[in-house]
Amino acid sequence: MTMKLIFIGPPGSGKGTQAKRLASRFGIPHISTGDILREAVADGTALGQQAAPIMAAGQLVPDDLMVGIIRERLTKADAKKGFILDGFPRTLVQAEKLDTIVSGNGQGDLRVLQLLVPDEAIVKRIALRRTCAQCGAIYHLENQPPAAKDVCDKCGGALIARPDDTETAVRKRLESFHRQTAPVASHYKAKQLLREVNGIGPVDQVFERIEKSLN
Ligand code: AMP
Repeated sequence: MTMKLIFIGPPGSGKGTQAKRLASRFGIPHISTGDILREAVADGTALGQQAAPIMAAGQLVPDDLMVGIIRERLTKADAKKGFILDGFPRTLVQAEKLDTIVSGNGQGDLRVLQLLVPDEAIVKRIALRRTCAQCGAIYHLENQPPAAKDVCDKCGGALIARPDDTETAVRKRLESFHRQTAPVASHYKAKQLLREVNGIGPVDQVFERIEKSLN
């Protein structure tokens, strides 16, 4: 079975974790435009130099550039069996171009999965999130606490709250997510391709719901 999936979900919803699991379950690439851009910035490529200030300002990279990146990525051999798109499409223009690319590649049947987590739950979740300043491991003070308070189990580093994990910053990220995503979700809803999955609960339980909704 081929799986061409667009994965939509708010920041802090567990979307990245679930997308990675799905990708390994189906043996298809997890394509995150955020990761592609961050890699380009780190490598100092022309794309990275153009994208860096836009990303730093929390704005969207121009549609033409993003569509070009995805067009090229989807022609690679590993995407023939399917793919999971994470972070793309972010605008209606991107969604319409993607539809054209996928049908042009003979990759017809897109599916769109939206992970639903209420804003209040995300704000609460992120307030309890701690990150290791040394190795980047992520903890949750209730769901996944470290063995010793404020100390990383993996490397012994100090656990901190990320500076962009404040309530104000999180609410701002959520607001722009909703503004950007609403038209993309409605586009796929109108085509009857959108499936909505409840994203509240333990990772395994959410993953089960996702698998069920795809079957
Ligand atoms: P993300 O990791 O998905 O939150 O993406 C990080 C940043 O990369 C975003 O804030 C945007 O600046 C940029 N970006 C990622 N995907 C897209 C996209 N599909 N369209 C425009 N900008 C994007």
